[in-house]
Amino acid sequence: MRKNIVAGNWKMNKTLQEGLTFSNELKKLLNNKSVNCEVVIGTPFIHLSEVAKSFKGTKVMVAAQNCADKESGAYTGEVSASMISSTNATHVILGHSERRAYYNETPELLKDKVLQALSSNLTPIFCVGEALEERESDKHFDVVAEQLKGSLFELSKDDFSKLILAYEPVWAIGTGKTASAEQAQEMHAFIRKTLVEKYGEEVANDTSILYGGSCNAGNAKELFSNPDVDGGLIGGASLEAEKFLPIIEAFN
Ligand code: PEP
Repeated sequence: MRKNIVAGNWKMNKTLQEGLTFSNELKKLLNNKSVNCEVVIGTPFIHLSEVAKSFKGTKVMVAAQNCADKESGAYTGEVSASMISSTNATHVILGHSERRAYYNETPELLKDKVLQALSSNLTPIFCVGEALEERESDKHFDVVAEQLKGSLFELSKDDFSKLILAYEPVWAIGTGKTASAEQAQEMHAFIRKTLVEKYGEEVANDTSILYGGSCNAGNAKELFSNPDVDGGLIGGASLEAEKFLPIIEAFN
């Protein structure tokens, strides 16, 4: 069954203490509230264990924002999927446009990261999305299809069905410029059709596809009400519990 999911991405923000202040605030705000979606918070690596501990016994799960493409060994500075898993984090964001653009993450490399994540029982939240010039030159569908094919389409049906996808148009990330509900639905429907062609109706219908890009309390409900938008990957608006809560509540 396809799930509704609201996932935060703190990026490189918050000290450990600030992260724990956030989790205490969110726990208080969610106390005795009905939550109609899965909630995931993507923290820096060093916060994972403590933030996961802080959310223990709640419905909130914790994600890393990256993992190594190798299992273990002499890779100074890298963090493996099994290390992430050992912190009780359950998810890992992969293929974020910032990692593709600033750290040269290629489709080939991301393919290996996805395999590492799956072999450590982490759920990848795999991001795709086009740059502004690609949309303006009408290449956005091709770009997204290539990103899916280049990193994911060698996976078995069984492995693919463990993934969450996130459509994040690069021009909407951190810019305050959100895709319209129609633009989001159009791309999400295209992604789902691409999945039908590769993995069949059942897998395609069961895959959660999140929207990301300046999603906030003011636009979440409209975006999430589209038939192929199953929630959001939230950057800036996930940094404060009071701003994140109404996005979760968009599913109420
Ligand atoms: C993101 O980085 O995944 C994101 C969607 O950021 P923002 O919500 O700030 O646009």
